[in-house]
Amino acid sequence: GTALHRAKQAGGGRAAFFEQGMGEAAEQRFRVERELRHAIGAGELRLHLQSQVDVSGRVTGAEVLVRWQHPRDGLVPPGLFIPIAEESDLIVSVGGWVLAHSCALLAQPVFKARGLRLSVNLSARQFRQPRFVPQLRALLAASGADPRLLTLEVTEGLVIDDFDDAVAKMHELAALGVDISLDDFGTGYSSLAYLKRLPIQEIKIDRSFVRDAPTNADDGVLVEGILSVARHFGLRVVAEGVETQAQADFLRQRAPDIVYQGYLFGRPEPDAQWLEACQTWKSPTAN
Ligand code: C2E
Ligand code: MG
Ligand code: MG
Ligand code: MG
Repeated sequence: GTALHRAKQAGGGRAAFFEQGMGEAAEQRFRVERELRHAIGAGELRLHLQSQVDVSGRVTGAEVLVRWQHPRDGLVPPGLFIPIAEESDLIVSVGGWVLAHSCALLAQPVFKARGLRLSVNLSARQFRQPRFVPQLRALLAASGADPRLLTLEVTEGLVIDDFDDAVAKMHELAALGVDISLDDFGTGYSSLAYLKRLPIQEIKIDRSFVRDAPTNADDGVLVEGILSVARHFGLRVVAEGVETQAQADFLRQRAPDIVYQGYLFGRPEPDAQWLEACQTWKSPTAN
């Protein structure tokens, strides 16, 4: 089979790409790059949406998660191609495609009618483009999407690269009405020091803390600390990777305004399917 196929057989781990000799790994990476460059124009990228829900079970919005419908290898998860795209300007093309299609999706009337939000992941290199903010402004205007319903998810690494530029851009985005969320919160090194100076509206507690919070006292205390800091700064909190009722209960008991995202409430699903579920008032997260 191909590299992607083998990687998926092996459980989707990135490592499968690099298990072979260095020469072969470099060759495969080059091939993924070339095929991905083609995939954008060929319409092989797909948006999947995963619901976010409040403690009453109401869907508040969704996170956009890109997939690659590869003609030979099937549906490829982002962990197998985003890191490769991030090594070059290819991520700017992939990210631009995701943003444009997310704005088009967000322009669907159901979002405004039900006050649903859409969260989109950003890569550092994409955010660092000098024209990033004006291009986003143009995309929003062209699509007719309401900027106030859009959240951009950034990671701490993106902030650390060039703190002053990141803060300046975040202020420009805030002026547009777009929210910023700090993704995978708690996995970086200087989260707390930076929080005070970052104009953000939301943090997403990393799945690793959520997973063990109910059973491991250390993780439980860390989650409580994050919730306390978020409350102090007036930030919305999304918990990623909620898989069990025990995890949901732990979070709700400490933060009744928490937003859940995880398999307990719904898996990522094709955008059209998620949209249809919303429009027919069926909960898209009903199992
Ligand atoms: P992320 O932004 O932290 O997204 C959450 C990931 O956790 C998603 O994986 C999601 O499917 C998965 N997940 C959600 N709930 C659960 C759960 O209950 N249990 C478990 N085990 N996993 C859960 P996915 O879709 O494979 O995406 C992986 C990463 O790829 C994302 O992590 C994000 O960093 C990146 N990514 C996805 N789409 C984009 C994109 O459009 N642009 C960029 N730059 N990165 C993207
Ligand atoms: Mg994310
Ligand atoms: Mg995340
Ligand atoms: Mg994550």
